[in-house]
Amino acid sequence: MKLLVPIKRVVDFNVKVRVKPDGSGIDIANVKMSMNPFDEIAVEEAVRLKEKNIATEIVVVSCGTANCQETLRTALAIGADRAILIDTNADLQPLAVAKLLKAIVAKEQPQLVILGKQAIDDDANQTGQMLAALLDWPQATFASKLDVANGVATVKREVDGGLETLEIKLPAIVTTDLRLNEPRYATLPNIMKAKKKPLETLTPEALGVDVTPHLVTLKVVEPPKRRGGGKVADVAELVAKLRNEAKVIP
Ligand code: AMP
Repeated sequence: MKLLVPIKRVVDFNVKVRVKPDGSGIDIANVKMSMNPFDEIAVEEAVRLKEKNIATEIVVVSCGTANCQETLRTALAIGADRAILIDTNADLQPLAVAKLLKAIVAKEQPQLVILGKQAIDDDANQTGQMLAALLDWPQATFASKLDVANGVATVKREVDGGLETLEIKLPAIVTTDLRLNEPRYATLPNIMKAKKKPLETLTPEALGVDVTPHLVTLKVVEPPKRRGGGKVADVAELVAKLRNEAKVIP
């Protein structure tokens, strides 16, 4: 069984993002970039399926600039077999990524696509769902446990009221939640081996996909600065402050 794992290069989760002075977006110049954390979980899950002899091949794909090669190499070092870069400088929105992934699915014919539930930069939480719709495949989002056997994926997902278990027929789409697994670190020997693994480069044009954005970002602003807290002596002072200063109680 072949697995496809789309991975996005995003601003590292430890970096405090800065908004560009003109409010047109986030400043990513000279900022540490890493694999989207939910995609690391997706790669880890794929590698575990291969270690259990359920999967035979793991293909990772990233859409973006040539720098995404670095992210793809990280996935290869964790245990993926082969990588595809869809090389573009375009501003890619989730629908464009889903269309590119649909073209890769047509080319690679995977049985299961495991994506992150959301990218921590745009927080869109759309690509997996859009891909499932474009392919007309079943989907199970926010997976916290995944079992695959006899052409069926059994997925536990965290919902508001507890855990829901779904059975979906392959081929299918699964998106990962935080508790699915704890990704391993790539070891030095595996980082060295990853340099020799195949990495193919394609373009949206070669795949016949139009990636023109459909949405316009009007403005990005920093969240308001938090004001420092203070201590109150007793409940009476707290109530007085809530009433007279914060004006949140009558
Ligand atoms: P989003 O819908 O943007 O929150 O992203 C959800 C998931 O879609 C990510 O965790 C990735 O698995 C995948 N994805 C989004 N953008 C890209 C991209 N540019 N290249 C590869 N995969 C992507």
